[in-house]
Amino acid sequence: MQNISARMAHRLVWLIALLPAGLFLFTVSPGDLNSTGAVLQTAGRLTGVAGLSLLLVAAILSARVPGFDRPFGGLTRLWRTHHRLGACSLILLLLHPLLLAFAAAGDGVSSAAMLLFPPLSDHATWSGWIALILMMVFLAPSFSFFGRPRYERWKRLHRLSGPAVVLALAHNFWLSRAFPPWLDITLWSLLALLAVGAVAWRFAFSRHAGRRAYTVQAVEPVTNNVVELALAPLGRRLEHEAGNFVYLTLYDQTLAIGRGEEHPYTISSAPGEDRMRIAIKALGDASRAVQSLKLGGRATVEGPYGRFFVSPDRVVRPEIWVAGGIGITPFLARMRHLRQTEQGADACLIYCVQDEAREIFAGELRDLAQAIEGFELNLHYFYREGPLSYEYLEQVCPDLAEREIYICGPGPLNRLVRDHANRAGIPESRIHTEEFELL
Ligand SMILES: Cc1cc2nc3c(=O)[nH]c(=O)nc-3n(C[C@H](O)[C@H](O)[C@H](O)COP(=O)(O)OP(=O)(O)OC[C@H]3O[C@@H](n4cnc5c(N)ncnc54)[C@H](O)[C@@H]3O)c2cc1C
Repeated sequence: MQNISARMAHRLVWLIALLPAGLFLFTVSPGDLNSTGAVLQTAGRLTGVAGLSLLLVAAILSARVPGFDRPFGGLTRLWRTHHRLGACSLILLLLHPLLLAFAAAGDGVSSAAMLLFPPLSDHATWSGWIALILMMVFLAPSFSFFGRPRYERWKRLHRLSGPAVVLALAHNFWLSRAFPPWLDITLWSLLALLAVGAVAWRFAFSRHAGRRAYTVQAVEPVTNNVVELALAPLGRRLEHEAGNFVYLTLYDQTLAIGRGEEHPYTISSAPGEDRMRIAIKALGDASRAVQSLKLGGRATVEGPYGRFFVSPDRVVRPEIWVAGGIGITPFLARMRHLRQTEQGADACLIYCVQDEAREIFAGELRDLAQAIEGFELNLHYFYREGPLSYEYLEQVCPDLAEREIYICGPGPLNRLVRDHANRAGIPESRIHTEEFELL
């Protein structure tokens, strides 16, 4: 059900984003299509309208309001749609001047050149060009045109989206003749207000008022490249459910890299615990620096975000969980919660690791599995068993097809297990994946 309603929510977003283009098509008259030049002109205007509305809806989705992502199946899914809207918008807005120039070329090359590159005093056209150039600059890294940039760099470039949206709106305000004036003003003002509001929320509210203050009370080594932080609230505690993640910002003065940067991490403690626990694996510069974090530093958390489990408080129907490496954290939170609330669970966890040395929380997982009635834990070692096979899943979970399946691990593992789930005939609505990637 969760997946079906999430799919509907995403379709609704696309519908809203494409609504202005649909309305534009209603205004097209036969005269707008009676020659090649007219068709090109109409197509040019259509791509402008559709590109701008997709850009504005993408901006609206970037708001990061806790809870807003839930109907969409979590923030990672919501941002996939944001990403796709941005990509489609860029393509449409690149086509927009080209189509208009081809239309103008009917009156000669100089008309086309004049339309594309008017005198500098033509603010309307030049604001459109600058918006488009800014879009190319901040979107290029998202599509890895020039390789994968460092995340923080990518994020800094993405801030150019603010001026790009404003300039695109100004261009539209000066030049748009797509709709009757009342519709033009209502439609674009509404979308612009929501988009500017979303960006303002993101950079003003969520960065300050939206963050809760914590202090680092413990840093427990789990393996040689994983630590679990215990954070004590300095004010009101952030409430969460198993499977949620937060943006964590550490301000410890001794932190060599990543001080003041926000990073998404799954909460590994059970809901209701006094301290928030977060397990961090050294996967890059900032997460490596956290491994030697000192006690007593200030931290903030923003969230909670994400919606992994359909019923995070209970296991209502048989489930199978597949975790890979640090992808164990949402399951750990849920097991800790089940243990704390003394609930049984018809659940089977397959924890995939390279070898014994890479097991994370293995001792605690074994204890929890023993304490939770009906729970079954299976450790799958890559060095011994190779990639997780369909036969292995069937062997440990003979009623696989009947179960709800949750998968959290690296992309290739997630895709492999999703294929096995499809092969077993588990419907899409019962397959849930979480990826530790936002791009
Ligand atoms: C929903 C979610 C839950 C996560 N939960 C956990 C967890 O419980 N434990 C854990 O160890 N790791 C978790 N991660 C991964 C963690 O966010 C990255 O490992 C960490 O941000 C890497 O930062 P870095 O500077 O050390 O590495 P870098 O080398 O800078 O980045 C490695 C990769 O991490 C991602 N990344 C880096 N910085 C950010 C950022 N600020 N925001 C988003 N993505 C970023 C990028 O995809 C990047 O390619 C989670 C990620 C997501 C999206």
